[in-house]
Amino acid sequence: MASNAPVLILLGPPGAGKGTQARMLEEDFGLVQLSTGDMLRAAVASGTEAGRKAKAVMEAGQLVSDDIVLAILKDRMSQPDVAKGIILDGFPRTDGQAAALDGLLSANGQKVTAAISLEVDDEAMVGRVSGRYTCACGEGYHDQFKQPAKAGTCDKCGGTSFKRRADDNAETVRERLKAYHAQTAPLIAYYEGKGVLQKIDAMGAIADIRTALGQIVQGVAA
Ligand code: ADP
Ligand code: ZN
Repeated sequence: MASNAPVLILLGPPGAGKGTQARMLEEDFGLVQLSTGDMLRAAVASGTEAGRKAKAVMEAGQLVSDDIVLAILKDRMSQPDVAKGIILDGFPRTDGQAAALDGLLSANGQKVTAAISLEVDDEAMVGRVSGRYTCACGEGYHDQFKQPAKAGTCDKCGGTSFKRRADDNAETVRERLKAYHAQTAPLIAYYEGKGVLQKIDAMGAIADIRTALGQIVQGVAA
């Protein structure tokens, strides 16, 4: 990665909109989204050793071990397309991951540019996450909040193949929220201590959050 390339972290509980906003930042700023959740789901789907180990842990709403996550992330960060800068979505999630990230970056003369905390109400997250599904093209939908204009057909690509994540049910979301508060929320103070924390209200409309995030990113990374 180029040593002046921005390294942005999106922090927030499941359902806060990290993935949605990361994809928009890719479009708006030419950065690359690195979602450890997506990487782990790909590993599960392709049946790698890491994927076999991660599967049950993810279905229970717990965190996959730092070893597995770090190996997958390091591998991804060694690919050439990350040169323009990255948006980390769902990583780091533990103290150990945050320390490892700092080490990885400092070896390259870099540090975290900004950690942006998406501030939301927990109870709303259960409803948001437990109705969501995705088109094969990546477009996201929701049983209550965002159905396609024509039932069963993606607005964006016209496709008819949708999927739901195995962990997007109310019970597992509650476990994921617990894991977030116990293990990940402390990172907000960690990045505050480093002077790189920004907080934004993420309960509003997707477009408004996109604008607010864009202003922050422009301030630190443009
Ligand atoms: P969400 O933020 O909505 O929970 P993710 O796709 O980021 O969704 O993560 C889904 C699951 O993948 C997590 O519940 C966890 O089991 C695993 N996971 C993803 N990223 C990490 C990480 N950095 N460390 C440990 N486990 C992770
Ligand atoms: Zn689609």
